[in-house]
Amino acid sequence: MFSTFYKKKLEELLYHCHRNLPSNLSDDKIISKAFKFAYEAHKNDKRASGEPFISHPYDVALILAKEIPLDSVSIAAALLHDVVEDTPYTLKDVKAEFGNEVAEIVNGVTKIEGMFENYEIKQMESYRKMLLSMTSDIRVILIKFADRLHNLRTLEFLSTTKQIRLAQETLEIFAPLAHRFGLSAVKSELEDLSFKYLDRKAYDVIAKNLKEKKREREKFIKNFIQPIKEKLTEAGFKFEIYGRAKHIYSINKKLISRNKKFDELYDLFAIRIILDTKNTNDCYSVFGICSQNYLPVPERFKDYISLPKQNNYQSIHTTLLSKDGKMVEVQIRTRDMHEIAEKGIAAHWKYKENSQHHDTNLDNWMKKIRESLESTGSEETTSQVLENFKLDLYQNEIYCFTPKGELRILPAGATAVDFAFEIHTQIGLKCIGAKVNGKIVNLETPLKSGDQIEIFTSKSQTPKLDWDKFVVTRKAKTDIRKYFNTERRKLIAEGKEQVAKKLKKHKINLSDEELSRIIHRLKYKDTGHFYYSVSQDSSKLTALIDILTDKNKLQNLEQKQLSAEELMPAGTADFSKFVKEARTSNKGISLGNGFENNINGLKYDFAKCCNPIPGDDVIGFISFEKGIRIHRKTCKNIVNLFLREPERIVQINWNETGGSDFTVGIKIIGEDKQGILTLITKTISKNFNLNIRSVDIKTKNSMFEGIFILSIQNLNQLNQIIEKINSMEGVFSVERYEK
Ligand code: MN
Repeated sequence: MFSTFYKKKLEELLYHCHRNLPSNLSDDKIISKAFKFAYEAHKNDKRASGEPFISHPYDVALILAKEIPLDSVSIAAALLHDVVEDTPYTLKDVKAEFGNEVAEIVNGVTKIEGMFENYEIKQMESYRKMLLSMTSDIRVILIKFADRLHNLRTLEFLSTTKQIRLAQETLEIFAPLAHRFGLSAVKSELEDLSFKYLDRKAYDVIAKNLKEKKREREKFIKNFIQPIKEKLTEAGFKFEIYGRAKHIYSINKKLISRNKKFDELYDLFAIRIILDTKNTNDCYSVFGICSQNYLPVPERFKDYISLPKQNNYQSIHTTLLSKDGKMVEVQIRTRDMHEIAEKGIAAHWKYKENSQHHDTNLDNWMKKIRESLESTGSEETTSQVLENFKLDLYQNEIYCFTPKGELRILPAGATAVDFAFEIHTQIGLKCIGAKVNGKIVNLETPLKSGDQIEIFTSKSQTPKLDWDKFVVTRKAKTDIRKYFNTERRKLIAEGKEQVAKKLKKHKINLSDEELSRIIHRLKYKDTGHFYYSVSQDSSKLTALIDILTDKNKLQNLEQKQLSAEELMPAGTADFSKFVKEARTSNKGISLGNGFENNINGLKYDFAKCCNPIPGDDVIGFISFEKGIRIHRKTCKNIVNLFLREPERIVQINWNETGGSDFTVGIKIIGEDKQGILTLITKTISKNFNLNIRSVDIKTKNSMFEGIFILSIQNLNQLNQIIEKINSMEGVFSVERYEK
């Protein structure tokens, strides 16, 4: 169905695939099929250059096969990458013909096509992350690199505006990313091509100079490497050595950063020595041989072998002085290291080395990939390894735009409401609706990376209680809560005023405490809650007045005992049974052995105000959150609690003394004479074998007052200590200390 020309083209592509792809990941069938499909789909389209459109996806696939060889799936996807965007064929068609994997990749490439077109490129790092956040398969990005490279190679056919736009985008976003992926060849070409369109003059000057000096340079290189070549051969190394001009963009950077003219720059090229060896130590030996011939510049020595760069680049870099005093950069590496340097991640199929630690997400992710490659080892399982190529970095963030094209970064799951609050609190509070990419959406719809969001506000809008269920940013949550708290406070104040007015009208005189007790009896959590209800529903106030003005009703209410269920939140284990028992038996509740901090599944703890210890007379107070809190019967706080809410009080027995430590304080007053404190401390720790947790001593007029906080087992022990210390000479009084 297609001409010899395209048959030849396909053969060429397959040839490079055979050469570069791992054999088990190279499948002629899928590549041929994709090529034919793309050819059919694009057959009526032309590129800006006038060429048939198929030349673009074809070249992209070819770049991939040559520069970033991974697997035939990515080659097929590269051939199909513009089908959905530019032809009547849909993603469904691609999926039906090629399956899910290829379709997903094509979908990914389509999604990020022209992503930056409408936006001014600022915040590069964010854009790079955004790109990655939209990509869950590394092959999408790799195809995008190849796509971009081909577009730049053919950029001359586009308008100047488009040229500059694409070149800028490439220089700011794609080239640095390619660098991070370790694709140095792709990165250099992207940079040079972009530079050419962004600063044609500077580009031409450097290119011209490089060309003019080419012969001179080649002669110099030849002479320079000759002695090294001989020595290395003598030493029995298998190697390749050559000199290479640096790429134009990097030369330009040097010209700028060093503020020099072209003629003054000597390191326009680097000598590369690539060793055919698996032994990395050979690189150091070769460095040794080089420095016997030429003097090395010590401060220019860099060992990226023991300390690889973040993108896994490994090499030795050194600068040698030529006989006529020129500085020449020399790079020494093994063949495997060279592959990594040139082809980045794609080279990992063949190459394995020790993993290194890097801190950023991307580096960690690269490391993960490498580890999975290492752990599987044999080529049979490499297709499973591809699963691990899922990009999950930056997937916890989404990158969205304002209508003006400003970028905002939100956590994954964020909604239009989060976005509104991100812009401004007032926009959030007044947010009534949103358009995402031009379409009206539900406020609770999660946003996606690349979305552009327009928020609609209304003066009369107020936050809704259910917003709290779907907003995810802290800002939105806090703003909404703040709003409701302020609102609630306002309403509470309103309700309180209403209550006060009504009471006055009915000439009812009640102290705050009495009122709060009645409100509690009416089963409001607190007075605030009651006032709030009144503000919402005036019948609540009528009901209160009704009770207050009727003696019988009031008496009834006062005498009513709250049920066990009303005391505790539902679902507490066996609680009602427990409270009933506690109320009916005189003995009260027994704390079990060992004080395991719960009684029949009910939590309890000891009040800090009076620090009860086993042996003390104690009593329990039921609280909503804490379970039972145990106080000493003499505690002032419990007396107050008892008066206010007697139905919450339960009797407690210690049962048996357990082995746990309790905290107790003793206050000792005595004469401030030498050695007495040491003596007291010794008495406590030696005689009773106790831990002293803290000591606080104050002295005044030859008297001291000390608070000793002790770990103790029970009241009996405490009494013994008090007695013992009391009998010491110079001690005036010892008593249990209470805050
Ligand atoms: Mn394309």
